[in-house]
Amino acid sequence: MSLRLTVLGCAGTHPGPARMCSSYLLETPDYRLLVDCGNGSLSNLQQRWDVADIDAVLISHLHPDHFSDLYGLYYTLRFHPDGPLSVPVYAPGGAQRHLAQVVNDDGEFANRLHFHAASAGSRLQLGPLTLDLFRANHPVETLALRVATDRVVVAYSADSAATPALTEAARDADLFLCDATWLERHRPLPSGIHMTGAEAGRQAADAGAARLLVTHVIPSNDPAEVAAEAAANYDGEVLVANDMFSIEL
Ligand SMILES: [Zn+2]
Ligand SMILES: [Zn+2]
Repeated sequence: MSLRLTVLGCAGTHPGPARMCSSYLLETPDYRLLVDCGNGSLSNLQQRWDVADIDAVLISHLHPDHFSDLYGLYYTLRFHPDGPLSVPVYAPGGAQRHLAQVVNDDGEFANRLHFHAASAGSRLQLGPLTLDLFRANHPVETLALRVATDRVVVAYSADSAATPALTEAARDADLFLCDATWLERHRPLPSGIHMTGAEAGRQAADAGAARLLVTHVIPSNDPAEVAAEAAANYDGEVLVANDMFSIEL
């Protein structure tokens, strides 16, 4: 079964000009999984889809650039012309209690977004997609993903510093969507948070991934320079995530 990935937001940490924060749509012919829902990404989603088309949402971790538009999604579902609608949301434990603090909650938040706790080491079967969850190397609990159909594998680092868990998550993947927030020339950089382009390239090479899609580049960095760093450490094809970039696998 084919799998299409569309980037709905790829800016790392904060939005940039015409660059929204992390969100990716994974589509088979009859199933749509939204991975992360960062600032502004709901606008991009609605350029081509209706929120009613989304079968499930997975939030990698509870940093605002990965969940902020869950609030917009909640209201879009609640006040949908065919609504009120709801969608399952898989996220690290405690997400509902944490996120509901921001809305004037009359109980509808949990009625529209059905939260399920997801943790590293577990497997989720979402429609035709099999998701294996890995622990990324990031300051809060963060889920890296290995998403498989019967034919293709896409891996997603979420936000992560280099870690053997990502090598496992992306082992022989057809596409590795990888954090490449930073550039080597800006060292020293904080440890245990993100990767440079060079580190993303090394992770992709270690995993034997067929293609690398660098993402989460902080808007103050040039994605082309980040990609060039990655390419120096990796023999496969390096692609650069941009909003609405789409690839069929
Ligand atoms: Zn982030
Ligand atoms: Zn983060």
